[in-house]
Amino acid sequence: MDGAGQTQMRSTCPYCGVGCGVLLRPDGQGGLEVRGDPDHPANLGRLCSKGSALGETLGHDQRLLTPQVDGQAAPWDSTLQLVADRFSQTIADHGPDSVAFYVSGQLLTEDYYVANKLMKGFVGSANIDTNSRLCMASSVAGHKRAFGTDTVPGTYEDLEQADLIVLVGSNLAWCHPVLYQRVLAARKARGTKIVVIDPRRTASCDGADLHLALQPGSDVALFNRLLCDIAQSDVLDRDFLNHTTGFETALETAAQDDPSVTGLSEEDIAAFSALWLGHEKVVTIYSQGVNQSTSGSDKVNAILNCHLASGRIGKPGCGPFSVTGQPNAMGGREVGGLANMLACHLDLENPDHRTAVRDFWQAPTIPDAPGLKAVDMFRAVGDGRIKALWIIHTNPAVSMPDADKVRDAIANCPFTVVSDITAQTDTARLANVLLPATGWAEKEGTVTNSDRTISRQRTVLPAPGQARPDWDILAEVGRRMGFARAFDYASAAEIFREYAALSGVTAQFGRDFDISAQAQISDRDYADLPPQRWPLTAQRKGGRFFADGGFFHSDGKARILPVTWRPPAEQTRPRYPYRLNTGRLRDQWHTMTRTALSPRLSAHLPEPFLDIHPEDALAEGINAADLVQVKSRTGSCILRARLTDTVARGQVFAPMHWTGETAPSARIDALVAAMTDPVSGQPESKAAVVSVSRYAAAWYGFAVSRDALAPNSDYWALARTHGGYRAELAGATAPEDWEAEARRLFAAPEAEAIQLQDAARGSARIVLHEAGQLVGALFVAASPVAVMRDYLVTLPAGDPGAMLSGKPPVDMPNPGPVLCSCFGVGVNTILSAIETQGLLTVEAIGAALGAGTNCGSCKPELADLLRSVDQREAAE
Ligand code: SF4
Repeated sequence: MDGAGQTQMRSTCPYCGVGCGVLLRPDGQGGLEVRGDPDHPANLGRLCSKGSALGETLGHDQRLLTPQVDGQAAPWDSTLQLVADRFSQTIADHGPDSVAFYVSGQLLTEDYYVANKLMKGFVGSANIDTNSRLCMASSVAGHKRAFGTDTVPGTYEDLEQADLIVLVGSNLAWCHPVLYQRVLAARKARGTKIVVIDPRRTASCDGADLHLALQPGSDVALFNRLLCDIAQSDVLDRDFLNHTTGFETALETAAQDDPSVTGLSEEDIAAFSALWLGHEKVVTIYSQGVNQSTSGSDKVNAILNCHLASGRIGKPGCGPFSVTGQPNAMGGREVGGLANMLACHLDLENPDHRTAVRDFWQAPTIPDAPGLKAVDMFRAVGDGRIKALWIIHTNPAVSMPDADKVRDAIANCPFTVVSDITAQTDTARLANVLLPATGWAEKEGTVTNSDRTISRQRTVLPAPGQARPDWDILAEVGRRMGFARAFDYASAAEIFREYAALSGVTAQFGRDFDISAQAQISDRDYADLPPQRWPLTAQRKGGRFFADGGFFHSDGKARILPVTWRPPAEQTRPRYPYRLNTGRLRDQWHTMTRTALSPRLSAHLPEPFLDIHPEDALAEGINAADLVQVKSRTGSCILRARLTDTVARGQVFAPMHWTGETAPSARIDALVAAMTDPVSGQPESKAAVVSVSRYAAAWYGFAVSRDALAPNSDYWALARTHGGYRAELAGATAPEDWEAEARRLFAAPEAEAIQLQDAARGSARIVLHEAGQLVGALFVAASPVAVMRDYLVTLPAGDPGAMLSGKPPVDMPNPGPVLCSCFGVGVNTILSAIETQGLLTVEAIGAALGAGTNCGSCKPELADLLRSVDQREAAE
């Protein structure tokens, strides 16, 4: 209880791997007030825009509330029996490898533990993999190769103690905003230098001392050059090399790589080396730009090599740092959620490890070989080897590479079960059986963030409808498959105790992951469990690894691996001349099943787009705001063109969030070929090759609506607004009757219409209303529609008749596109304040307008606006 007598609970944000603590208080109307937890070590009270908007994403209007079988509501009892029977029968008929689980970094550790135990210990297959395969499998592989285990050596405090932060393939400002804020605060306090290594000029470059826009996939060559420079300097730590093997061979290999493949100037490469060698405390943060590559594991090892050779690891302010995309990617790694891992960082291929886990679980069997990794798993679904598939809290029909093929594979699988909080995903629509699961704030368990801190997620809201926790659903199916004793769990706490006890087994094998100090934790202490960094043993709590060696290979030494630059798997060619980079936006999360529910978050970038260099656009005959067709050999998309020099010539960028539910022609992973890293199995999501051409739309449209829309045009993209919905539309053929089209679009056959139509110009403006209350407004033109969207989406509070002009009355300023999501401050408002009030700094903008003063996620964009004003004034 807080001082006001309201119940306030501590929990953890469900989005990224920063793992921020939140304080939650029910608002009495089914929602929550959400604040950053000042006592949580990950965020110390900060939240980013996504975390701040969590309270807006908890409505039940899209929730799956009852089990469904073939589209019909069904009782839990018969549905669970059906799932158990179909899996059991498939295993009996075709063997254990004919079934698979595809799970998610959204699962809590206790859920993950039960799923992994059921598949690996009792089904007898290792066919369980997770969407974390798409996120950080290359980091896991790199860690295991170098250290002997999947160990993150450092802590978040290192980011504040470093003299130099190197961001490699990481747009930290948008993808891990609270960590970026911590880095910026440290920079302000102690002058930390920042280097960004990324083909794209991202928001993270705004605070950087050096941006190296290297060629996609050339990181190994850059870090091999750095290794050579380290070797020729006194930064080489010969004492620490005694804790390693392989340095000389790795150095010889590195020397053979040609750094010019990076496309960087010798001057820039030398500047990077000078910064790296000239600062003792260096943290190299890397993320999807490193991992999502066919040479992802080698990139990771190239980075680790430099830290090992310099001994800059495991000490305050030093170390390589893999930041994970998902809230519990780390928990999944620890619990053995990947097809090639056993629980508690033990190895499937090691017979002693298998025996120890099998004995602990009293399981009939443990497979002795890895299961199918994600891409291979869906290939096996497609070719019929997998005949029963259970997908839990993830949307592979959108997020897997070659997504159209994966969608078809799932559709044709003989038996597909989906557990989720909503039935409105591309994947859930393909399932035979839908199981309603509890969502964030409704369930109990733990998650592990990127610096090994285990935090609680707590139940604050009641489960809606018949939703049940995932561990409960999985355990029930396990019991019905005949494993009653092994899955006789009564609570998440009981599972956590068992997991902690199992981790004690790792001690006998000298492994890193050990939380056995929690094996006897009481229910009450589990309820109150504060955030704690592992290891958690009688002897040790948290801390860093490897400052004095102590690696987990059998000889106790790290491996400095010889790695060689390899280009991306697919090469650009005349048919596909552009390299496609994909990634995340500041205010959206994965396939938007939660963040798209927030009007505030949807306001930032409400439509899918393709960033293309202005000169490439000119060469392709593409104008700003045109729609473009992007094609690869696996798929095709239609996206809005944004002309920008943040991408280099020959490269394009598109966000990966949109789905069949929000913009069916913008399913970006349909463009990405299913090429994987040979070691980690992680797909190459950032180096597809594509063609780009102007989409020859016969008409373009923009609509605002009070109610949900049902567009059916060739192109559409839907987003929430505070008053309803907005949609961008386009088509290759114009309807004959625009009024009829508007009535169909807004499902308003009887509404009154106000309209302006110009058939000769192909334009129409139709406002439908009921007794003066806006139902919807459709604006159509033969070219991209020029109306003031940011004004129109503030309606339908306004006068329907006044909408026809598509712009605000002269006495009402147009705020422009929302830049600060927290306070809804638009670009035009900020620009006007900069000019009229003479604002010179981000802080001054904050003081005048509030923008940037809550989560701070928009600060890089505010800095960018200030810079653009400076540049414009300098040119005048
Ligand atoms: Fe959530 Fe943002 Fe923190 Fe990530 S940085 S855990 S999205 S509040």
